[in-house]
Amino acid sequence: MAEVCTYLNYINGQWTASSTGEVEASINPANKHEIIGYVQKSALPDLNQAVSSAKAMQKKWKKLSGNERGNYLLKAASILESRLDEIAETMTREMGKTLPEAKGETARGVAILRYYAGEGLRSIGDVIPSTDSEALMFTTRVPLGVIGVITPWNFPVAIPIWKMAPALIYGNTVVIKPATETAVTCAKIIECLAEAGLPAGVVNLVTGAGSVIGQGLADHPDVNGITFTGSNEVGKRIGQAALARGAKYQLEMGGKNPVIVANDADLNVAVEATLSGGLRSTGQKCTATSRVIVQSGVYDAFKEKLLQKVKEITVGDGMKDGIWMGPCANEGQLRTVLSYIEKGIQEGGTLLYGGRQPQGLGNGFFVEPTVFDNVTGNMTIAQEEIFGPVLALMKVETIEEALQLANDVVFGLSASIFTANIGNMLTFINEMDAGLVRINAESAGVELQAPFGGMKQSSSHSREQGRAAIEFFTSVKTVFVKA
Ligand code: NAP
Repeated sequence: MAEVCTYLNYINGQWTASSTGEVEASINPANKHEIIGYVQKSALPDLNQAVSSAKAMQKKWKKLSGNERGNYLLKAASILESRLDEIAETMTREMGKTLPEAKGETARGVAILRYYAGEGLRSIGDVIPSTDSEALMFTTRVPLGVIGVITPWNFPVAIPIWKMAPALIYGNTVVIKPATETAVTCAKIIECLAEAGLPAGVVNLVTGAGSVIGQGLADHPDVNGITFTGSNEVGKRIGQAALARGAKYQLEMGGKNPVIVANDADLNVAVEATLSGGLRSTGQKCTATSRVIVQSGVYDAFKEKLLQKVKEITVGDGMKDGIWMGPCANEGQLRTVLSYIEKGIQEGGTLLYGGRQPQGLGNGFFVEPTVFDNVTGNMTIAQEEIFGPVLALMKVETIEEALQLANDVVFGLSASIFTANIGNMLTFINEMDAGLVRINAESAGVELQAPFGGMKQSSSHSREQGRAAIEFFTSVKTVFVKA
């Protein structure tokens, strides 16, 4: 068993214990008695120090060329790549996703760093013809200043990196407060950035309670932008705090993602994608498939094929070979999932499969992959984000009815349709209220070079990733020059 270490805050280039002297244990959700590491339980003085150092350094950092900043990211990418296996194992042991998934996510982190390193040499403005023939008019972009980064536990490598890398390449400095659940994994990412030689103060890590350090970042007068991914409840609070003091904010929040299976769908493709999109990572993806809306002509055949596959799922410790689905990331999440299952039964859904904690798996937060039949649009399990391995099957007659049901939630993050009909595809692209619409592909796929984000209550409507990230992390300056 690996040695249990204590991880420190990283402030102004120094690994520093918190002013409280207190630490918190991060535990393995596959075995709650295993401690992965101890992280700092910080207080506002620690955060204030981190913000001061980020603010002081930002003026120097922004003066480097994009290429110089990119070189630091390239170096960090190589260091992360060299530690891929170790960091992926930490992720699996800290939040439960299977090791192959954790390795894939860490490799994604490496690719994101390299992608944004390249951004340092791409265009950041346009030349705009002036009505004055002797003038030059153009736009350029300037960094916001200090960026507060608040991240969830479900993608503990990819999400911090896809926020920090664009923040840095465009000349901002960063204070990150990761989810307490996965703060050890985040500390290891910061180690990679530190080893890459980033100047002191460019990136700062402060761990601690969301209500103290997260809220403190949102309220801090010297934090110019807040980028948050997490629950709607917390996101709304952060948005209000940032708005109240005129700071820029970006919120990526929950989803209730539907797939529609049309009568002409390739059922094997639809089943595989529903299984993977809904149940991989134990359903703990914001883009996870949650509602499965199936046309009546193929409903029974689809259900039978899906059930067959769900029954084959192996649940257990994600570090072990042959395990398809790990535990819920924490005890609270497990309780939430079980209570939604209970509600589904109470409100008249038919529990087709799963619904319980599997026996014989020891001390972990495991739950069976679960499938409900006869779900209607007004049921709680058809409306609220569960964030667990629960699929709700809903039967419809027409594609129009399917779309109406698919859109009848407060969220709008990701959605898929399975069909061979170009008309169905176009209707879906035009009518589905979601930031990501996918045809014959699972709802949970994301490519790092493409804009990512949701509509309705899934997002504050800005976009992350790809070139779209520049919109949040910079301000546009319009320049008019007359000689
Ligand atoms: P969460 O409870 O909202 O926590 C997210 C982050 O906010 C954590 O770092 C948390 O710190 C911090 N936080 C908690 N209370 C806070 C407060 N009052 N002020 C400021 N920060 C605070 O979410 P989660 O349970 O970690 O993640 C699951 C949620 O994330 C799901 O709803 C999921 O859909 C969403 N998500 C969305 C996307 C997307 O891109 N749309 C991607 C992934 C996940 P502590 O850990 O210390 O509590």
